Amino acid sequence: MNPKAEKKMFVFTAPSGAGKTTVVKHLLSNYDNLGFSISATTRTKRAGETDGVDYYFLTSEEFKKKIAQNEFVEWEEVYENQFYGTLKSEVERIWDEGKFLVFDIDVRGATNIKKFFGNQCMAVFIRPPSFEVLKQRLIDRNTENEATLKKRIDKVIKELTYEPNFDLVLVNDQLDVTLREAETIVNVFINGVPA
Ligand code: 5GP
Repeated sequence: MNPKAEKKMFVFTAPSGAGKTTVVKHLLSNYDNLGFSISATTRTKRAGETDGVDYYFLTSEEFKKKIAQNEFVEWEEVYENQFYGTLKSEVERIWDEGKFLVFDIDVRGATNIKKFFGNQCMAVFIRPPSFEVLKQRLIDRNTENEATLKKRIDKVIKELTYEPNFDLVLVNDQLDVTLREAETIVNVFINGVPA
């Protein structure tokens, strides 16, 4: 197990729909020394999500109180009136367990985490092979209505410009290849060797 002193983390970020959640879930189910950083959010819970597992679901009032009390490492209004953030207590919880943190967060939050933690952080930008592919994936995901889908697509165009802020870029064309590459990134950053 990771000695407590070795405080490292992985940030996986991407435009909405590029597949980062799939990559993160794959890594978490294959490495028991990785701990998922559960974000706080004010968005409503989707079917199948559990409070304290997928997110800490907070009211806007609760979220704002935590901002005022300086309890976040970073937070963003990712969509209008939908706040997301990483609690300091969450980072400490996972490091206290002797695990490496894994973040699945938006490009601005990821930029802030990378700036804050520097070399302790391996920050990976996952990119779709093309904008058209990404648009289709968003449509196929079917979690959005027409208005929120348009919002997400507009956002993707901006998010793609964040790529240069990160240590590595993974092009998610064939999922199985992407997953192998993600494993290599983890192995190299933790152990200094690919496997
Ligand atoms: P969703 O609502 O689809 O779960 O997430 C929307 C976006 O918010 C995704 O890009 C997700 O990665 C991002 N997100 C989740 N947690 C955090 C967080 O703690 N901070 C920031 N800045 N973004 C987050």
